[in-house]
Amino acid sequence: CGIIAYVGRQQALPILLNGLKRLEYRGYDSAGIAVMNPDLTILKKKGKVINLEELTQNVTIVSSIGMGHTRWATHGEPSDRNSHPHPSHDKRLAIIHNGIIENYSILKQELLSKGHIFESDTDSEVLIHFIEDIKENLNCSLEHAVRVALTRAVGAYAIVVMSQDDPNTLIAARKSSPLIVGVGKDEYFLASDATPIVEYTNQVIYLKDYEMAVIRDNKLTITDLENNIHEPYIKELDIEL
Ligand code: GLU
Repeated sequence: CGIIAYVGRQQALPILLNGLKRLEYRGYDSAGIAVMNPDLTILKKKGKVINLEELTQNVTIVSSIGMGHTRWATHGEPSDRNSHPHPSHDKRLAIIHNGIIENYSILKQELLSKGHIFESDTDSEVLIHFIEDIKENLNCSLEHAVRVALTRAVGAYAIVVMSQDDPNTLIAARKSSPLIVGVGKDEYFLASDATPIVEYTNQVIYLKDYEMAVIRDNKLTITDLENNIHEPYIKELDIEL
């Protein structure tokens, strides 16, 4: 139900936790984050952001990239297991997702027959396994695999994907669920709405349906699902900081 992601020079963890707290008003039943510490690390917990925060206090996290999620359960009960982020089968990719993948059950059957093992009951976990499967089959870049997967996914999504093999990169896309890019100085944010990022920047890009944002090595590229480049339209938020 809420998404926040960060890449830049600051430590991501406090920005993610702070952002998740600011998104609390949207309602949710679990919270989780993924960071590069230096390996792809997922921490998630049923309940309030404070429960997740307690979990993070037992670990030393050094990462200037990361993503956080609050979940409004649609497929699978509220639980630690069904919380986001969800890893791929080989654990080298992770996804956070707001929305519903309506054809997840067909995709899951396909993937189960190929030997994929699922840890949750969510539609979202199916999507990251699907992306992984496409990437392996086509031997293509992660963003191409995400594009192909989203072309076949039916439903609504705002997603962010991170990869162990592409550790300085955030890949985001949306359709029917909101997602904005916050543009700072040598840093970028992704969020469901402006509330978690207004304290850092007032420069935002409202992603349109079927747009994908790739932030790699401090460079932002926006495309559609056919890989046509879209010129970003940066809007100045009219909010007193
Ligand atoms: N459909 C997904 C789930 O149930 C995402 C829900 C959400 O938007 O938070 O896990």
